Amino acid sequence: MSGVRTTCAYCGVGCGVVATPTGGRSTLINGDPDHPANRGRLCSKGTYLGETIGLEGRLLAPMIGGEQSGWDAALDLVAERSRDAIEHHGPDSVAFYVSGQLLTEDYFAANKLMKGFIGSANIDTNSRLCMAGAVAAHNRAFGEDLVPGCYADIDEADLIILVGSNTAWCHPIVWQRIEAARLARGTRVVVLDPRRTETAEGADLRLKLRSGTDIALFKGIEAYLLQQGAINPREVEARVAVPADYWDSFADYGIDAVAATCDVPASDLRTLYDLFAARPRTVTLFSVNQSTHGTDKASAIINLHLVTDRIGKPGAAPFSITGQPNAMGGREVGGLASSLAAHMDFAPENVDRVGRFWRAPAIARQPGLKAVDLFRAVGEGKIKALWVMATNPAVSMPDAARVREALGACPFVVVSDVIADTDTSRFAHVRLPALGWGEKDGTVTNSERSISRQRAFLAPPGEARPDWWIIAQVARRMGFGDAFDWDGPAAVFREHCRLTAFENEGERRLDLKRWSGLSDADYTSLAPSQWGGERIAFAPGKARLFTVGQPAVEASPMLLNSGRYRDQWHGMTRTGLSPRLSQHRREPLVEVHPADALAAGLASGDLARVATTQGDSIFRVAVTDAQRPGEIFVPIHWTDRVSSGGRAGLLPGSAADPESGQPGFKSTPAAIAKVSPDWHAFLLLRQPPARDPECLWWTKIRVSGGTLFEIAGRTGEDVHLDEYLGAGELLEVSDPARGVRRLVVTQQSRLMSALFVARDARLPPRDWLIEQLASADPGPVLAFLTARTPGRSRPAEAAVCVCHGVGKSAIVKAIVKHGAASVAEIGAATCAGTNCGSCRPELARILAQQEQSLAA
Ligand code: SF4
Repeated sequence: MSGVRTTCAYCGVGCGVVATPTGGRSTLINGDPDHPANRGRLCSKGTYLGETIGLEGRLLAPMIGGEQSGWDAALDLVAERSRDAIEHHGPDSVAFYVSGQLLTEDYFAANKLMKGFIGSANIDTNSRLCMAGAVAAHNRAFGEDLVPGCYADIDEADLIILVGSNTAWCHPIVWQRIEAARLARGTRVVVLDPRRTETAEGADLRLKLRSGTDIALFKGIEAYLLQQGAINPREVEARVAVPADYWDSFADYGIDAVAATCDVPASDLRTLYDLFAARPRTVTLFSVNQSTHGTDKASAIINLHLVTDRIGKPGAAPFSITGQPNAMGGREVGGLASSLAAHMDFAPENVDRVGRFWRAPAIARQPGLKAVDLFRAVGEGKIKALWVMATNPAVSMPDAARVREALGACPFVVVSDVIADTDTSRFAHVRLPALGWGEKDGTVTNSERSISRQRAFLAPPGEARPDWWIIAQVARRMGFGDAFDWDGPAAVFREHCRLTAFENEGERRLDLKRWSGLSDADYTSLAPSQWGGERIAFAPGKARLFTVGQPAVEASPMLLNSGRYRDQWHGMTRTGLSPRLSQHRREPLVEVHPADALAAGLASGDLARVATTQGDSIFRVAVTDAQRPGEIFVPIHWTDRVSSGGRAGLLPGSAADPESGQPGFKSTPAAIAKVSPDWHAFLLLRQPPARDPECLWWTKIRVSGGTLFEIAGRTGEDVHLDEYLGAGELLEVSDPARGVRRLVVTQQSRLMSALFVARDARLPPRDWLIEQLASADPGPVLAFLTARTPGRSRPAEAAVCVCHGVGKSAIVKAIVKHGAASVAEIGAATCAGTNCGSCRPELARILAQQEQSLAA
């Protein structure tokens, strides 16, 4: 296959991509059939990578204050202010906050500068927010941050337990492997999640357990197996190091007690226990992070696998699945404040070893500040110079309002990013333009320890430079030139590999010796490869159990959970550029159980304010029995740049797991109350607006050919919206008595803009009007005022299957008219669900609904 082989920019599955530039920035994207992670498949986000690599919104030159500068001036200033802070306030007055979006080479450079040369360990990463609990639990159990399993284990498992993971949406290519295993060998799938997610819809068994009770559930399995005699403690002690109090810690985990704690039927627990007992080939895929007890949850899972000897064997593994594309690479170089480098901690012999390897003048001797503490220190004035790389903590950190205050008070903030205007860069004194996906060159490590190349296939735009180069330039200006004189990412990679192998006689499993002398040409052509072998097994006594217990469950009338949507990624700076990816969820929804909705007087489509002690934000309401009563859910993706509300980051508190420092995002005490605007509106614009509306609530998304705003406000706030419509012929229909206004602007019969206002939220569907923006043959101008083409009985609709653009009516037709009786048959009739597969749970739901209504 021609084109450049690279790796997807998004999740930790780490799919291989073949990118074929077709002129300018336009690029054809295909899955790499030879990449072991995906064998040619891509999910919707990967499929539409080509729509997200334009230069819109890019930062293309260094900026000091609001002014463009040259690289020399910007780098000199960063070096000078960092040196100044160190001289007057000590090395711990400088901090880096980095990202799982960085390549391993960038991460290595940042970690080396901070821990070896500045002399502090104040470098932490946004990966702290998404997988630090798993890292801490691996260290507890294995003495090193080791993921023992691999994707092939999914293919070979007889039982897959998904814990806190909406795999069908968040790791769709892994979900495809799970579906394939079910077909091939009858693998049973169990989903443990407080929500009935799309993943749970298709499971053989789903336990909608109470938030935060995973430890009880896993201890319950062990207690049951002990009681049944299926676990022999003496045999376990011959394989694994067992703490003295371990076997006595199961007394309170009988089936009825666990059922009460988790609030699930005891009969479902028994089914799970029996399934587990009968199927030794078990993979537990877990994302039990973002919890103040995340480390203990992960330990409970790993304990169960160690005790039952389901580890390091085909089809048997506790498997932490990572969110970000290079969370694992960051862990390998030591990008967390709690580790030093190359899977070494701050034990004196490691400090000595790494210091000698780097010839470091000021090696850090103790862990630095973890993310929450780091931003707290910024707020307390202890950090005088902060450098944020490739991440947006003003959005993603918990208690984001306090983080913004801290950033605003920090004497010197540097932001390296691809995007010019982010919620965080608004606080920056210096902005440095970094290369983006498709422009940068380096390596990433995926969830199964496979190192893959990300390769450049686009020319660097403007003045943008690789992150490793930017860091090395600052290091040179700080007087550390010799140690940062790399001539390219291959040199950085070789140094990283040499450090993993340095004085490593097998004590550390992360040993990349085989690549220490890799030539530049070999680096260029490096094929994906797992380190540590396909699976990692442990010699007797080398793995340890860790005694954990179920903590008291948060007592609150309402708990707030948060997570991802299928087609969006983090703060939408990239996926938000794709009109097709924006179709699936156009607004940030708060999902509410019907009983809670009734109590709060809420209906689907209303607006509601979600409030916690940290802050509040307004969301559109979706009433669904997929939620547990007393638990609500919001998405994490919406930022100040795209919405006045929907700001999940403002809501969670900053309490963190004592072991891993990971903050909790999944069960924050909250309240929800209806918001009643005086009017609702949508505004459709061909041209991007110069500014955003000023009113009670608004949100915007990219649509084909323009921008769509959803807006709501108080009396008088709608007046200025007319100004957004721009030049052209204005058509207007209004009924002041009913509060209705419809304004449309055309130029030579082409729709330029439309504003529809109504007193209630019952506005016409937007899809037909959106079609007119992009259409070469727009409908009759007067029809724009009805938002529907004359004679068309059904309004246009959003796609259920984004990959193939298939809407619900086509799916219903396939079922009702053509007799499609399975998801596969719907796929055969419409193509829906035949690419990435992440809409298959939704297809199954539509099928079930139709079957029910046909039977009624
Ligand atoms: Fe990219 Fe999707 Fe693969 Fe994740 S599953 S790496 S988002 S294509």
